[in-house]
Amino acid sequence: MAHRRIIIAGNWKMNNDIPESIALARELRGRIPELDDKHEVVLCPPFTSLAAVFNEIRDTAMKLGAQNLYPEHHGAYTGEISPSMLKSAGCAYVILGHSERRRYFNETGEFINRKVHAALREDLQPIICVGETLQERERGVTADVVTQQVLEVLAGINEAQIQRAIIAYEPVWAIGTGRNATPDQAEEVHLMIRSLLAERYGSAVAESVTIQYGGSVNADNAAALLAQPDIDGALVGGACLRADSFTQIIEASLTEKP
Ligand code: PEP
Repeated sequence: MAHRRIIIAGNWKMNNDIPESIALARELRGRIPELDDKHEVVLCPPFTSLAAVFNEIRDTAMKLGAQNLYPEHHGAYTGEISPSMLKSAGCAYVILGHSERRRYFNETGEFINRKVHAALREDLQPIICVGETLQERERGVTADVVTQQVLEVLAGINEAQIQRAIIAYEPVWAIGTGRNATPDQAEEVHLMIRSLLAERYGSAVAESVTIQYGGSVNADNAAALLAQPDIDGALVGGACLRADSFTQIIEASLTEKP
C-alpha cells in the first residue's frame, strides 16, 4: 500500500507569460527546502509555460502539473490539449474539475470523470477538485454535494487507480476570496471524503489517498490547516504566485502533524 503523501500544488491559473514563468520557477528553485519521499511540490503553470518551467525544475524535487486536459489522445479537437501532450511537456500531475472550469466552462461530473480516466491511462496523477458553493453550505447540504461530486468523478476508478489520484477539497466560497475554511470546517469534510473512500475501497486504501485543501491558503493559515489529521497538503492559488509566500506554505507542510 502506498504511503500517504503531503502535496503542495500551486495553481498559477491564467497568470504568467513565458519570461514571468521562468523567473518564478527560477526563484522557487533557489528557495525550495529539501523534500523527503513523503512530500511533494507541484507547479501548475498555464499550458504555454509548461515546457519552459519543466526546463527550470527538471533537476529539482519539484514536479510539473497542468491545469486541464481533453480526454482524447489526438484528433480534431481544435484548441484542446491531450494527456500525452502534457506528458511530453514534462507533466506528472494535472488539475481536473476545478470549480472555475465547472462554473465558466460548464464542466460536468461525467466529463471530469472521463478526464480522470484519460489522465490515469497516460500515467498522469489527477488532482481532482470538489467543493460546495456558499449557498449550498448555508443550506446545510455540503456533505450531500461533496459526496455526489466525489462519486461522479470517481465512477469506474478502481483500487489501484485511486491510489494514484489526489482529491482537493476546495469550497467554492473560499477560492480567491481571502476567506479560508477554518481548520475544523475543512477537517470535517476531509474526514467525510476519507470515509466515503473507505466505504468504496476499504480503509487501508482510503488512508493512503492524499486529500488536499484549497481555498485562500496563505503563509499565515497554512500551518493550522495542515496540522489537521486528514488534510494532506494544499492546492494554492493566489499565494503561489509569489515565491516567498509559496515557500512558506511548503515549509509549513514539512512540520510533523501533532
Ligand atoms: C484555487 O484556485 O485552487 C485556489 C485555491 O485559489 P486561492 O488559493 O487563490 O483561493
